[in-house]
Amino acid sequence: TYVVTDACIKCKYMDCVEVCPVDCFYEGENMLVINPSECIDCGVCEPECPAEAILPDTENGLEKWLELNNTFSAQWPNV
Ligand code: SF4
Repeated sequence: TYVVTDACIKCKYMDCVEVCPVDCFYEGENMLVINPSECIDCGVCEPECPAEAILPDTENGLEKWLELNNTFSAQWPNV
């Protein structure tokens, strides 16, 4: 799965949402998250993010962000 990280906070661009083929972005007050159970790992959102906030969860040190994406995607509205 891909995860949204803190670089997304207050970014306000929605380019990632527009390209996602499975509509798995969720929006909170300050940032977006990806639902890890819905993401099909296609990677098309990563280069679309102007803040470079979207990373594959295979990168080191993203455990906390993966957990937050999972938790918040269950609470926030789909976008
Ligand atoms: Fe959507 Fe693909 Fe990005 Fe996953 S990797 S959030 S499926 S665009």
